[in-house]
Amino acid sequence: MNPKHKHILKTFLNGSMRLAEFAITNVCIAKCSFCDIWKQRPRQFVDKEKGLLAIDKLADFGVAHITLTGGEPLIHPNIIDFAKKCTSRNIHNVVLDSAPSLITEAILDGLEEARSDMISISFDSDDPKVFEESRRIPNILPDIEDAVKRMKRTKIKSMASILIWNNNHDRMEKLFIKAKDMGFDLISVNYPTFSKSVLYPLGGEGISLSRSSVIQSLQSIIELKKQKKYTIINSIASMENIIQYLTDPATVRYACLGGSRVMFVDWFCDVRPCMQLPQVLGNILTMTKDDFATEPCNRCNMSWYRDFSTFFHGVKSFPVYLESVTSSKGLY
Ligand code: SF4
Repeated sequence: MNPKHKHILKTFLNGSMRLAEFAITNVCIAKCSFCDIWKQRPRQFVDKEKGLLAIDKLADFGVAHITLTGGEPLIHPNIIDFAKKCTSRNIHNVVLDSAPSLITEAILDGLEEARSDMISISFDSDDPKVFEESRRIPNILPDIEDAVKRMKRTKIKSMASILIWNNNHDRMEKLFIKAKDMGFDLISVNYPTFSKSVLYPLGGEGISLSRSSVIQSLQSIIELKKQKKYTIINSIASMENIIQYLTDPATVRYACLGGSRVMFVDWFCDVRPCMQLPQVLGNILTMTKDDFATEPCNRCNMSWYRDFSTFFHGVKSFPVYLESVTSSKGLY
């Protein structure tokens, strides 16, 4: 077991584990139809020294996994430094990307040297034209194919990050087949979410699916996961929990622990429960353990927060954790 996975296991078992999304910039190259962050002004990048200190503080609070996000984190000039800092604190780190042309050889060399664990690439459709239109990035599908191939020379794993939306909700297996053929190591599924957040306004026609369509889509993914043909990281327990949420929110088995176990840190190093909620719990550079949220939340179905929150519900979380580790072949 590598030191980061050992660290995850240790913090999980001793009850200190937390996970963070760290948005290091609001600047994005994509102009996605279901996200408005690319319209934000002024453009912000976290300061290098503050970003490094923030990662140290997160590590001190038990954070064992950081998703470096944005905007587009690969355009931050210090992305390699941030990944290196995570590794130096044994924090499992993943870089999100929606513009594959940014996965240059120099970035791959830098992330490899930083021993970054994974690049998670947005993958919406197996139809090149539909995909180009949804992200408004020319040639995006061939560029992803090329990037995933080039990643094979490194130890960095590739993950296809697939949003359930109008174009794919009833044909998820086709996307999974395409992702597998392209050489992705893992697949993660994002649940469509509407948000009026000042930080991350999400929504739009592309994800205006009925609840029953999302439920059917999730049921099909659960069936595919049971067949073990694809390395889908979302646990069955979490997807069933989201189905419960969409059916009757009062019946969920696992509440969201945004702000206590999972959190969102922005480019000013301000900590929020998630990217949806406006309240700032504190600034990570100065906050204390008492500033974290104490109440669970059940206000939305956002994947990253809901999926990871299932790890923190006492005994009933052990099977979820084990399923996550085994179904991702220990890669995640
Ligand atoms: S349920 Fe949604 S709104 Fe509430 S903390 Fe979790 S991600 Fe945020």
